[in-house]
Amino acid sequence: MDIQVEQSCPQCGGSIVLSESDHLLACPYCNVKLFLQVPGVYRYVLPAKDNLLEDQTRRIYAPYLRFKGNIFFVSEQGIQHRLVDTTQAGSIVSGLPPSLGVRAQAMKLKRLTPGAGGRFLKLSVKAQAVLEKAVQISQLSNRQGGAMYHRAFIGETVSFIYLPINENESSFTDGITGSHLFDLEDGDTSTLETRPFHPRWNVSFMSTLCPQCGWSLDGESDCLVMTCLNCDTAWQFFEKGLEKVAWKLVQGDNRTRLYVPFWKVTAQIPQLNINSFADFLERTNQPMIPKPSWRSLAMSYWIPAVKLRPKIFLQVARQMTLAQFHLQAVEGKMVRNTHPVTLSASEARQSVKICLAASTASRRKIFPLLPKARLKTSTVTLVYLPFIDKVHDWLQPQSATVIPKNNLRFGRSM
Ligand SMILES: [Zn+2]
Ligand SMILES: [Zn+2]
Repeated sequence: MDIQVEQSCPQCGGSIVLSESDHLLACPYCNVKLFLQVPGVYRYVLPAKDNLLEDQTRRIYAPYLRFKGNIFFVSEQGIQHRLVDTTQAGSIVSGLPPSLGVRAQAMKLKRLTPGAGGRFLKLSVKAQAVLEKAVQISQLSNRQGGAMYHRAFIGETVSFIYLPINENESSFTDGITGSHLFDLEDGDTSTLETRPFHPRWNVSFMSTLCPQCGWSLDGESDCLVMTCLNCDTAWQFFEKGLEKVAWKLVQGDNRTRLYVPFWKVTAQIPQLNINSFADFLERTNQPMIPKPSWRSLAMSYWIPAVKLRPKIFLQVARQMTLAQFHLQAVEGKMVRNTHPVTLSASEARQSVKICLAASTASRRKIFPLLPKARLKTSTVTLVYLPFIDKVHDWLQPQSATVIPKNNLRFGRSM
């Protein structure tokens, strides 16, 4: 489930509600469009009830790590996947709820700012441990036995949600419900190591004007890449600002209603001896004879640059990758009717081994080599592919790939 965040517009002060997957703040009152830039992850706080504060009460905040995304496993049994949505305590203090349960979804959160005051419990659980727990919860651990070859987290949102806690003498209560959490003996504060707000946790609001021509960039609130319809450029958000993205498109025709973005990851995998598209077809035992020209066609993995349900994500990546010889990507004018990029280039690179596993017709030849396989990426290009409206589905004509419309919609709340 998506969480909602109350946010005031930094320009006019208007109150806006964002979703956790939003990277853009588009203010309906003053029309400013800004992107949220933070080194690291977003941090939110559950809204405390200040009427629960008595004199002498101090406020502390307990961090919870939120993970939402797809986990993929490649094992002897095949490929398994699960959508995981969990919020687990990041500090081990007995009496703290181990998870926030549905609370994070039931309330509107606020962005953590220095104005929150108080101190913050130090993180004593590593993010990796939270992910391991998510794996256990998802029941995707390797229960049936057999060799485990590869595991990847794709399209994940990781954030911190802080639970406010009221400290009154040695008694600690939930800052929202007022219920008692735990007591500490006098002076027994060793388990409660706290720290002040770190300036790095602050979100900056950055301009969305095209760094090349100054035109206003185009993009929806959950996009990771904005486009300039004036100078035909694409820009992705990164820690220090906007970074130019190499992009191309496969030209559509009068039937085209939508362009869906894909990351074309051109890479060699030396351990599997896959350099060209012909290599790929042979190593993965595809039932098609490589054409001579495919020996010099550098192998690319075509990964959807949009979030989709795991099964469809793999299906679409596989079909598009196998049909790559049909896809003539060229430089051109930026198109308007594009679906926003919601999966980053780095996540696309992490998806390559899963895509390879999903594409192979011979598991035994490929799966055991996955742990050693390393990508030698040469280029990552954003490519917009034309799709035709087929009532319930979007159809990509060159590759005959279908994406159910509801799946594309669902992906925006993942
Ligand atoms: Zn505003
Ligand atoms: Zn521009």
